[in-house]
Amino acid sequence: ALSGNITVEMIDGLSKTSFPLCMQQLHQAFRQNHHLRHWGRMQYGLFLKGIGLSLDEALRFWRTEFLKKMDPDKFDKSYSYTIRHNYGKEGKRTDYTPYSCIKVITTNTPAVGDHHGCPFRHTDPELLKQRLQSQMMSKDVVDEIISLCKTSHYQLACGRYFDWSHKSDTKFNPNHPNQYFEESQHFLSG
Ligand code: SF4
Repeated sequence: ALSGNITVEMIDGLSKTSFPLCMQQLHQAFRQNHHLRHWGRMQYGLFLKGIGLSLDEALRFWRTEFLKKMDPDKFDKSYSYTIRHNYGKEGKRTDYTPYSCIKVITTNTPAVGDHHGCPFRHTDPELLKQRLQSQMMSKDVVDEIISLCKTSHYQLACGRYFDWSHKSDTKFNPNHPNQYFEESQHFLSG
């Protein structure tokens, strides 16, 4: 397993091969905007911790990106605390666990300008359709995924996305974004 050995430099590559769509979306938004709002930082930060990014690497990851448009002082004062907090180094020292699919799907509904949540649940179906098409997905698979979303089978839609993106036929039904990642790594390592 990769656990504990993930470096900042590996994240872009892994986001393309092994991240579920919710985390791809957060990663891309973070790279584009050099910023994520609170729930985005929570959902994505805990996921990254779960795939094995150490606290030091996490601080390096968030700091480098935030500093593209933020004052170092402001980052150190307002943001590094949350990251350390996620790793249980501040506050109550709780070891926060990454969010499950059900948690992502049913809590903290994203508002305009947010990038967290589950795309199969929270993205407007027309927009989701366009995004899937832009990944060169065939019409049949797009239609199948959209119809699963419309009947509230969000995790099955995500599993269908998994099979499509891995050219597999696992009929995987994810219940956790980190499980999706592990399943992908497992599949890719043969
Ligand atoms: Fe992420 Fe789970 Fe939604 Fe898939 S079903 S996109 S892993 S929250």
